[in-house]
Amino acid sequence: MTEKTGKEELRELARGLRRRVEFGDVEWSAGSARASERAAAPGEALAAAPGGVGAALEGLASQVEACRKCPLGSRRLRAVFGVGSSAAEVVFVGEGPGFEEDHRGEPFVGRSGQLLDRILESIGLSRKTVYIANIVKCHPMVDASDPEKRGNDRPPAPEEIAACRGYLDRQLSLIAPRVIVTLGAVAARVLLGPGEPITRIRGRWRQYAPEGLGRALKLLPTFHPAALLRNPALKKDVWTDMKALREELAQSAPE
Ligand code: SF4
Repeated sequence: MTEKTGKEELRELARGLRRRVEFGDVEWSAGSARASERAAAPGEALAAAPGGVGAALEGLASQVEACRKCPLGSRRLRAVFGVGSSAAEVVFVGEGPGFEEDHRGEPFVGRSGQLLDRILESIGLSRKTVYIANIVKCHPMVDASDPEKRGNDRPPAPEEIAACRGYLDRQLSLIAPRVIVTLGAVAARVLLGPGEPITRIRGRWRQYAPEGLGRALKLLPTFHPAALLRNPALKKDVWTDMKALREELAQSAPE
């Protein structure tokens, strides 16, 4: 397999950004194609990392694999560290793994993940050019005794978030993307602090300074794909946000 350099990935992104993609041309539904067919295997993407970032992420992933800092670690089936390019310009952050992610060890691989793939494609991005992670790395379950039960998901508790968020800060500090996109209310609240509801803050540019990076990164809150599955009327807001993201990235895209 030919490994892409960071510059080649950026050129590919720029080509994608130049493609004219209108909302009406994009079928934003949870498609039939399996997310795993398009996803970069974690090791594959990280191996292309410049400057040892990939190796550092792999080391961090090993720490997460062994982590038992909160009770979720002894209940989940698989740790869900993150997927994508370690040279990503954009990091998407969700709240935590669900049933499918717990079984496969990869973020956003269920119906929400398929929809996220479509959203990425609509602005010329893919799992190979962005990075995707969650606030917590292990599956928060309503009934921790039955990980095989579907619909057994819940938002992470404050103490679970407090135990785990250092891993996300480290991922963000290592990758140092130009933009963080939070998906849903929980991810926005954790990185921006409690305040206005997601319906008010989505689409409004903010900043977040990951611990250890020493500077702030641009942050764009938007809705979680699961919210779009429940309420398709929200798609137009997310499309507005994705166009803003595309414009931000295009401002300094290489020729
Ligand atoms: S959720 Fe995070 S802190 Fe808790 S066990 Fe998993 S990796 Fe560790």
